[in-house]
Amino acid sequence: KDLYGPGRRNSAGVELGHEASLHALIAEIEAARSSGLVAATLIDGAPQPGAERPVLSPSNGATAVGRVREADEATADRAVDAAQRGFRDWERAPAAKRSAALEKAADLLEARRGLLLGLLQTEAGKTLDDAVAELREAVDFLRYYAAQARDLFGEGEVLPGPTGEDNRLLHRGRGVFLCISPWNFPLAIFLGQVSAALAAGNAVVAKPAEQTPLIAHEAVRMLHEAGVPGSALHLVTGDGRVGARLVAHRRIAGVAFTGSTEVARRINQTLAAKDGPIVPLIAETGGINAMIVDATALPEQVSDDVVMSAFRSAGQRCSALRLLCVQEDVADKMIDMIVGASRELKLGDPRDLSVQVGPVIDAEAKQRLEQHIAKLKGSARVHLAAEAPATGYFVGPHVFELKRQGDLAEEVFGPVLHVVRWKAGELGQVLDAIEASGYGLTLGVHSRIDGTIAEVVSRLDVGNCYVNRNMIGAVVGTQPFGGSGLSGTGPKAGGPNYLKRFAVEQTVTINT
Ligand code: NAD
Repeated sequence: KDLYGPGRRNSAGVELGHEASLHALIAEIEAARSSGLVAATLIDGAPQPGAERPVLSPSNGATAVGRVREADEATADRAVDAAQRGFRDWERAPAAKRSAALEKAADLLEARRGLLLGLLQTEAGKTLDDAVAELREAVDFLRYYAAQARDLFGEGEVLPGPTGEDNRLLHRGRGVFLCISPWNFPLAIFLGQVSAALAAGNAVVAKPAEQTPLIAHEAVRMLHEAGVPGSALHLVTGDGRVGARLVAHRRIAGVAFTGSTEVARRINQTLAAKDGPIVPLIAETGGINAMIVDATALPEQVSDDVVMSAFRSAGQRCSALRLLCVQEDVADKMIDMIVGASRELKLGDPRDLSVQVGPVIDAEAKQRLEQHIAKLKGSARVHLAAEAPATGYFVGPHVFELKRQGDLAEEVFGPVLHVVRWKAGELGQVLDAIEASGYGLTLGVHSRIDGTIAEVVSRLDVGNCYVNRNMIGAVVGTQPFGGSGLSGTGPKAGGPNYLKRFAVEQTVTINT
């Protein structure tokens, strides 16, 4: 059965190496640039009043990219009530109609790429190639879930039974789905959650990260324009307090959350303590992602893959490499190569096309990273402590060698790589310590020994394993993404089982 939709293809993206395409793209970004955007809570499609503040670019911490009007608690409650009213009409609409609206939205995203890419650069601090990759992922999510939903939410699956009976298994929307997303993929993760919940026939209340409301607001308006009724999709702007208020609302029938493990735990506790139906939580959270490198690995390839996995997007990917575990025999050589390549990375405002590492998201993120770096400078061996521009929220790439693997006990969300060495015969202990962390998001392995690769991959409960390549950039439909343990509940985004978790099942037996 073709769960992916006949003829569905991932978006072609943009070939940035092609000079004419690049110039056309930059012209579109410049033409769409504006500092007059305002993000507001949208209830039934209508912007709501709220306390207004500027949204500042992380590249300098001063330029206003636009403004946001944030919701208070009463406004958040009204959004859920409105979604509840809009639910049945959307749920009863034919699956093909819902999917067509999502596909139309994918087309609009591609047509307005100048606006979206510009916002990814200025509001989220992304380099152009990261922004292009993110737009492409967002488009892929929309088309992938739309194609799947047409099949899964159509007439239902006919089941075997005695003659004279028609037995069917149907999937239907749950009700009001709350989608809470992070700032690090403010378009792709935001739209991934929202499109899955909508495709499955839910009404949606979407709460984007407080750092990136503008891009979420533009994306929701495109979905409305594409045919998703304002009554089925509502946007609530604001920070974690507004998120917490929404989670506690009695009308919420399901929550999709992507963000930190700590907040996922809090949401889970609130849901568990509520009266009424048991509310499912889909949580996609953080990781202490490790890469195992043995003495047979190819040094140049390891160096390239480590630098990309640890420092691309300023290390602000949930999949990013945090802990490099390298065999003693080759450790000095590998570390030298990695440090040499990392030293060459250019930091700065990502609108400069030669920049490879942009800012971290805000002052708080920068301060948290600087505290971690200061602590390690006193307790670990410093291999690299790169300088960063003084204005804006920049942190230079750092490489530290830890005394003990267990010294890294929590996710560090930025361009900081931790290294440990292991001796021949000690691989089992390295794997024990990774397992003991409780996280299970991504894992890298570099080895030319099949037995070692098989042992590492089968031994660890890690959601996405990458062998002899970098460990970032999962592709929709090709590398379904998500972790286990402290890294998330599953199912995997961009995979065949995701949509079902947004739905309820119904069996209908008709005596014919
Ligand atoms: P965060 O947990 O601080 O915030 C995420 C979202 O939750 C934001 O919209 C925030 O406003 C909201 N929120 C905060 N407190 C809340 C509360 N008490 N109740 C309800 N909502 C609340 O995470 P972040 O800093 O935005 O994102 C970075 C984290 O996201 C990292 O840990 C990263 O690993 C993780 N992440 C995971 C994946 C994945 O697929 N597994 C993908 C991207 C990011």
